[in-house]
Amino acid sequence: MTKVGIDIGGTTIKGACFDEKNQILKEYTVATPARAGRSVMFGTISYAVEYLLREDTALLGVSSAGNIDPFRGVCVYATDNLLGWTGADIKGELERRFHLPVQVENDAICALKGELTFYPGAKDVTMLTFGTGLGGASLVNGEIVRGRKFDGARWGHVVLVPGGLKCNCGKRGCAENYLSATALLKFAQKKILGVSECKQIFDRFEAGEREAKDILTRFGEQLNVLLGNVRTVLGPEVIILGGGMAASKEIFLRLIEDTRDIRFAKYGPLSGVYGAIAE
Ligand SMILES: [Zn+2]
Repeated sequence: MTKVGIDIGGTTIKGACFDEKNQILKEYTVATPARAGRSVMFGTISYAVEYLLREDTALLGVSSAGNIDPFRGVCVYATDNLLGWTGADIKGELERRFHLPVQVENDAICALKGELTFYPGAKDVTMLTFGTGLGGASLVNGEIVRGRKFDGARWGHVVLVPGGLKCNCGKRGCAENYLSATALLKFAQKKILGVSECKQIFDRFEAGEREAKDILTRFGEQLNVLLGNVRTVLGPEVIILGGGMAASKEIFLRLIEDTRDIRFAKYGPLSGVYGAIAE
């Protein structure tokens, strides 16, 4: 019996087919048609599922950005990082297409669930994922925080800068606008020519370039504020950093003031895919 996990992010859709021992048999990655609307999204997701599906597949798990009602499998709200995704009946649509049980969960919660396999018995853990957006999820006293409208523990939308940059959630100054990979790249592109990915900013920082140092010092200050808020509100045992950008561990460890409770996603950018099929 196999399971298929799909992780819908703002930039890529990643998927994998897993065997009974949670080993990956097959993987698939495709660019997210984030601006193309709901029906193109479902088409792209379906193509990925078809590629990964086997005759013995018994579960399709979907990890999606946005506020997800996991009981109905519906995206209650998504920012325009995924245009037209608000209201999408993910479970209903994919069950109709594939005649398989489908479970749907928020992507940061999936990443957290995936990583929790490395912390058996842990009851208070927060996950932050640095990608197109800044994903946040928290386990408190053994329970995942969801909030009344499935909008709880969305650390990316905690305000870091009052009256700051407009966020596509409608507020201003949310952490996502300063700490996501997209935000960091945007800041860097204003100051440094020819930068197209975060890794280049990190390389320049390590080479001691001043502009890169300024940008990442500011990034570090804001990250420390957010981590401090998480610690004050929830007092977690560990805070796990994930998403593509967190692969640059050494940089994060240099920027973070107190690293005692900081861990990095062991599944790397695949945490959400693993978590999508978790019970
Ligand atoms: Zn926001």
